[in-house]
Amino acid sequence: MSRPKSPTALKPSPLPGEGGATAPGEGASFASRLLTWFDTHGRHDLPWQHPREPYRVWLSEVMLQQTQVTTVIPYFERFLARFPDVQTLAAAPIDDVLQRWAGLGYYARARNLHRCAQAVVELRGGEWPRDIEQMIALPGVGRSTAAAILSQAFGDRHAILDGNVKRLLSRHAAVAGWPGLPAVQQRLWNYAEKLLPDARLADYTQACMDLGSQVCVSRRPLCAVCPVAGDCGARLQDRVAELPASKPKRDRPQRSAWLLLIENDKAALLLERRPPSGIWGGLWCPPVIAAEQDWRAELAARYGLRAESVQALEPVEHSFTHYDLSLQPLRLRVAPAGVAEAGATAWTTMSDPSTLPGLPAPVRKILDAAYFAPQKAQQSLWPEPSTA
Ligand code: SF4
Repeated sequence: MSRPKSPTALKPSPLPGEGGATAPGEGASFASRLLTWFDTHGRHDLPWQHPREPYRVWLSEVMLQQTQVTTVIPYFERFLARFPDVQTLAAAPIDDVLQRWAGLGYYARARNLHRCAQAVVELRGGEWPRDIEQMIALPGVGRSTAAAILSQAFGDRHAILDGNVKRLLSRHAAVAGWPGLPAVQQRLWNYAEKLLPDARLADYTQACMDLGSQVCVSRRPLCAVCPVAGDCGARLQDRVAELPASKPKRDRPQRSAWLLLIENDKAALLLERRPPSGIWGGLWCPPVIAAEQDWRAELAARYGLRAESVQALEPVEHSFTHYDLSLQPLRLRVAPAGVAEAGATAWTTMSDPSTLPGLPAPVRKILDAAYFAPQKAQQSLWPEPSTA
């Protein structure tokens, strides 16, 4: 049974700079202050910065997941000496790769690294994609990693949101809520994109990482020397110690999921009948993917589809008897558009709400808002595609 949630969960206060307001202390942009700081205090001599080419940047980004820079540097150099380019890595036996990785931990990273190198060589002739969705489609490459590679190797304009940057932006924008929640994460992505400069993207990406890991550290951040302290929401509100919020410890389990509103080129929506037992048993519903899962990978694995355009809609909270569910709808335009209709899968035209099959109440609410609200009807189907 659905019940309303507290307004703070659904109606966040504006971020600095939202709604045309200028944040207190904001003169030069966030990016220009950060880049000025970076020129003097940032890291300029990391081995993957010279040269900053995609294979080296990709390798460093995968190694840096859950691992500190100082630990990574000797591994990076040894790895590169054995596997100097993506072709050598792709052709190497996996045991060889795992051996050079030993000690870095999280060995799924090494296996994905190998699979990714093989995909780049076999499917792309050794060329790295410049399109972020194609980059994300590679094994082991998430959105932040893809953005870090494209911005650092090619200077492309993409925002990153690794753990350090999540903490930095949660504080700067004074974003309440645990950053692991899809709705909070989406706000941080929006904020990260809003702050992007028009130039020096490679340096800006490195500067965000450096400020997050050296100044806006987890305990006792160095606000006195921080270049963006002037309009830092957490500092101005005296909430530095409480942001970002910790993962909620509650008796009632909290679950989060993506709701994929998959649209084909005829503006029809993919619905599937849920299994007879379990939540919403037997009802029709767009695909639901647990938040921990990579929805892009699931989209490819389950339906053979790839998102060409992504639009994040307002999240919806729903309470079940034993847990709370946070649903983050993503409206996707996909390619290829064909999924064979089977007994449990159907493309449904979204022109008349009365013709829809039985849908769960919170899903109905999301579809009504997305397709049948009066103001939506005035808009074209894809007014302003954005990424999630
Ligand atoms: S002022 Fe302090 S809390 Fe705010 S971004 Fe800088 S280091 Fe982090």
